Amino acid sequence: MKSYWQMSAQKEIKEKKLKVLEKDIETDVCIIGGGLSGISTAYYLKKADKDIKIVVLEKDNVCSHTSGHTTGKVTSQHGLFYNYLIQSQGEEYAKKYLEANEKAIDNIELNSKIENIDCDFKRESCFVFTRTETDIEKIQKEFQSVKKLGKEVNLKKEIKLPISDMKCAIEFKNQAKFHPIKYALGLCNSIIKEGGEIFENSKVIDIIKENNSYIVCTEKNKVKAKYVVMATRYPIKVFPGYYFLKMYQSSSYAIVADTKTEIMDGMYISSDIPTISFRTIQEGNKKLLLVVGYDYKTGKQELDDGFRSLEELVCSMYPDAKIINKWISEDCITLDKIPYIGEFSKLTPNMYVITGFNKWGITSSDIAANIVTDEILNKEKLKDKNNIYSDLFRATRIEPIKNREEVKNMIKEATESIIVKRIEGVENPICTHLGCELSYNPTEDTWDCPCHGSRFTRDGISIESPSVKNLKDKNIDAEEDY
Ligand SMILES: Cc1cc2nc3c(=O)[nH]c(=O)nc-3n(C[C@H](O)[C@H](O)[C@H](O)COP(=O)(O)OP(=O)(O)OC[C@H]3O[C@@H](n4cnc5c(N)ncnc54)[C@H](O)[C@@H]3O)c2cc1C
Repeated sequence: MKSYWQMSAQKEIKEKKLKVLEKDIETDVCIIGGGLSGISTAYYLKKADKDIKIVVLEKDNVCSHTSGHTTGKVTSQHGLFYNYLIQSQGEEYAKKYLEANEKAIDNIELNSKIENIDCDFKRESCFVFTRTETDIEKIQKEFQSVKKLGKEVNLKKEIKLPISDMKCAIEFKNQAKFHPIKYALGLCNSIIKEGGEIFENSKVIDIIKENNSYIVCTEKNKVKAKYVVMATRYPIKVFPGYYFLKMYQSSSYAIVADTKTEIMDGMYISSDIPTISFRTIQEGNKKLLLVVGYDYKTGKQELDDGFRSLEELVCSMYPDAKIINKWISEDCITLDKIPYIGEFSKLTPNMYVITGFNKWGITSSDIAANIVTDEILNKEKLKDKNNIYSDLFRATRIEPIKNREEVKNMIKEATESIIVKRIEGVENPICTHLGCELSYNPTEDTWDCPCHGSRFTRDGISIESPSVKNLKDKNIDAEEDY
């Protein structure tokens, strides 16, 4: 389903002049994936060193996946997160995480100014609110924690969102929102002006190590590169990264509503389950309302209740609301709620990964792009200082795997799906990523993987990573991996 962002950026999408890869080429850095992570990485690398050769390979179109189906909040407020972070990682860690995300908001603002990108970037307050008595204490604890970290926050008894039973809320000031596709396409213009190359409709099907380089293969051509950055949201390489043991994918419903009623300013998200996120979109003189929520583990969707529930909620707030757009999108959820950024594995030098944003990937993709840029520049001896945030997000950390209960669940689920279903004989198609049995998603008419979140059209075309092969290919990606 096309998102509001795709529909409202038709002019910019039409004007972009991106080609398909049609010959073998050599480059310094090959970035796989043209979402915010891949495009931001290409941008920072090119800005830092105009002589470095950059190639981006995108299987569909720039920002046509999660980055183009996001809510577009540019925030350091990531739900109720900082009390959890202090408890799990310590105060120093939480302070740096907050600082990294605040810096990312500034970076995105600065980039849009420097590059003259008209992406509706706007500073606004951001609120987490609760409608339940039990979450009041959680909000109060979050308030104390964030204050301790030095961020200006307010505890509120009232917010402008016309929602019943609001108990209390925490406000982060000076956060922001933007149009994700317009921002990404603005960065693309700069990358191309600086000599970078971005190829669309160029799907990567394999990455092969050859001496000190990697050969990145699309269906017809090859890109030889010293460095590879896997920015495919979920890494397409199975081994030796083992990311399938460290995260899963979660989907959310999104709707955009038009109403004649004056809509509140500010961005809002509930702490209660189901999580519901709100923001406005300025379209000419009118304000639209974007509401996202009713998350479910990809592949485990229960009917199409999500859209209906969101519509009912919006109509209870704005009775004249008319739904003008809706979509579903997914993102990776890590076991410790912290992204994986940096070296893909100890066995694959010069291969980087950017993943696991837990639905907070706008600031995180900017942080990731800076970390990977600095690591590559360090290796090229163009810089001699490590990125101060790289240790926070180390992709090869083993701590998440210590969450034995979760890992056990993941292994159990995958094993049941692969082995038991294979022995018993399966009714549904088998995922080409790791062989799990797919389930049918009636809302989007797709086959979705309940283990790792790959998705396929009804005809078996792979549309979402980590799968690369289509269903008719039968054999499994992992079998040909390292
Ligand atoms: C409903 C929803 C709402 C969200 N709202 C917010 C928000 O308000 N604020 C926030 O901070 N975060 C939000 N997020 C999270 C954020 O949008 C994502 O984390 C972020 O956009 C991910 O960017 P990405 O570039 O890593 O992935 P993507 O945007 O998915 O880009 C990955 C790209 O890789 C390409 N690719 C995959 N496989 C291959 C291959 N084999 N060859 C070539 N290319 C390939 C894909 O086509 C895709 O374009 C939200 C997420 C969801 C699901």
